[in-house]
Amino acid sequence: MLVLWFTALTVAVFFLMEGVAWLTHRYVMHGPIGWAWHRDHHEPHDKMFEVNDLYGVVGALGGISLFVLAWLTGLWWIRAIALGVTLYGVVYAFVHDGLVHQRWPFHWMPRNGYARRLVQAHKLHHAVQTRDGAVSFGFVLAPNPHRLNAILKARRAERLGDIAP
Ligand SMILES: [Zn+2]
Ligand SMILES: [Zn+2]
Repeated sequence: MLVLWFTALTVAVFFLMEGVAWLTHRYVMHGPIGWAWHRDHHEPHDKMFEVNDLYGVVGALGGISLFVLAWLTGLWWIRAIALGVTLYGVVYAFVHDGLVHQRWPFHWMPRNGYARRLVQAHKLHHAVQTRDGAVSFGFVLAPNPHRLNAILKARRAERLGDIAP
């Protein structure tokens, strides 16, 4: 029975983490203070590492701290939370740094299916290089790319309208 609860909590935390990541990306990383670390991820460069990678380090430290806390207390539900958070981190790194940004030593780009949609959604997040005006802040649940494109197009038209006499 405990195995069931453990698995259910781990899966729930995994999906909850997508919400946490969305909010963090939208309001902290694209916020007035957090942008300082995230900015170079939105600008073209040929560096191996980005200041933005520090967010990954913070996330990893968070996951490790939870495992230490679970070990110190011996509580199963903290271990389930730690596992859910860590699994999210692993999937995030695979999707974001691997699939989308191709930071692994080989080239593999999904041509179709949900993996393709994930790549498109995050590429559209990078269509904007500034702090404001970006779309698609999640990493594991990808919105429809056509809808994202329409939003970007509408915003662009709005901006051009502002400039036009
Ligand atoms: Zn961003
Ligand atoms: Zn990215």
